[in-house]
Amino acid sequence: MNFSDSEIVTSILSQEGYEYTRDLALADIIFINTCSIRENAEERVRKRLEYFKSLKRKKPGLIIGLLGCMADRIQTALVEEEQLLDLVAGPDAYRHLPLLLGQVGTGRKAIDTILSVDETYAGITPVRFDSNGISAFISIMRGCGNYCSYCVVPYTRGHERSRDAGSILNETSDLFTKGYREVTLIGQNVNSYRWTSPEGNMDFACLLEKVAAVHPMIRVRFATSHPKDISDPLLHTIASHDNICKAIHLPVQSGSDHILERMNRKYTREQYMERIMAIRRIIPGCAISTDIIAGFCDETEEDHRQTLSLMEWVRYDFAFMFKYSERPRTLAAETLKDNIPEKVKERRLREIIELQQKLSYENNNQDLGKTFSVLIEGESKRSKSQYFGRNSQNKVVVFPKTDASPGAYITVKIVRFTSATLIGEVVKS
Ligand code: SAH
Ligand code: SF4
Repeated sequence: MNFSDSEIVTSILSQEGYEYTRDLALADIIFINTCSIRENAEERVRKRLEYFKSLKRKKPGLIIGLLGCMADRIQTALVEEEQLLDLVAGPDAYRHLPLLLGQVGTGRKAIDTILSVDETYAGITPVRFDSNGISAFISIMRGCGNYCSYCVVPYTRGHERSRDAGSILNETSDLFTKGYREVTLIGQNVNSYRWTSPEGNMDFACLLEKVAAVHPMIRVRFATSHPKDISDPLLHTIASHDNICKAIHLPVQSGSDHILERMNRKYTREQYMERIMAIRRIIPGCAISTDIIAGFCDETEEDHRQTLSLMEWVRYDFAFMFKYSERPRTLAAETLKDNIPEKVKERRLREIIELQQKLSYENNNQDLGKTFSVLIEGESKRSKSQYFGRNSQNKVVVFPKTDASPGAYITVKIVRFTSATLIGEVVKS
């Protein structure tokens, strides 16, 4: 999400004549784009800002700005008391950046953290940086309206809103023309995408179908799906298009009903399992990944065991796993006690990670001997004589280089594996 926002910011400023550099020594303006979903991020940002301040001593006139989710919380102290920042812009204020930059040094505060109900940055074509030129993220929604009790997103990024479908399709076509072969549609809960226009209403399944129709050679991925909203019609749309990837990220957070209710996730363990069965039935061979939080308020050993047993049952291909950290303003911070000792949280998280490593390894073992169509993304980081790419299931595949170039599809047979990577040989170019 943040990566995509940085690309939008770069685009807005390029239109005003600013040039992007990743070389700190060359920069006249440094922006730090922040996320406050988990706790340790704030400490890291403060340290980074202190370092930037030391650069400013050597280069007076250097402008330092803070963007993103942390803007609202952090602004007053850092601008006024510690003077670490010249400018602060929240996630809905990026169109005002040229104006804010003009205010720096004039005595007027260059701060805008107002959240909008309709800003989606439609019409701004992000400048792709750090890109392999093959795969790109397209932001289709902003904000979130789910209010999971642990989560700060609805407060820092505002209400859920969908972006104009026409602008998403134009961006996809434009990327395809530039040589990109994979787009990932991103939003906090893409299943609740809705766009109303004089031509009719569009839901997520319909959008996905239209993006896939831009060209059969462009792969489409999406994240994140909320378990309460992932419907059978959407699963059928995924199943019936070769270029919609067979990988679903379906964050479960906990395997215990007692905790799911406290988290305000709006589904039960049984309903989640029913959705997994629907995925397995409608899209055979689909990879399933998840997010899990260890040590949420009041989590008992039994609740934790239920998370482990659900993981075993689903046999996730991949998971992002976190220790619960209380975030200010959330429902959990205001109504529940963060009462699981740090050591217990750490041990439970460790058990979850160890189990997932075992599951990833066993799942990759199942892929041994199978052939996959792999989109070549570039040279492997470990060896110049190898390429890496991904299969439809979003697994990284490494294989010996051929004449084919990045951006081409290649058929690869899996001959070895680790818990993180499949290693293959080329069947045909
Ligand atoms: N919208 C997505 C994910 C958003 S945040 C969804 O609903 O699934 C990404 C992940 O960060 C979440 O899925 C959750 O696992 C984790 N997360 C969010 N808030 C957290 C908190 N306070 N402590 C620990 N992990 C958290
Ligand atoms: Fe946060 Fe829940 Fe929204 Fe995801 S769905 S962003 S976890 S409030």
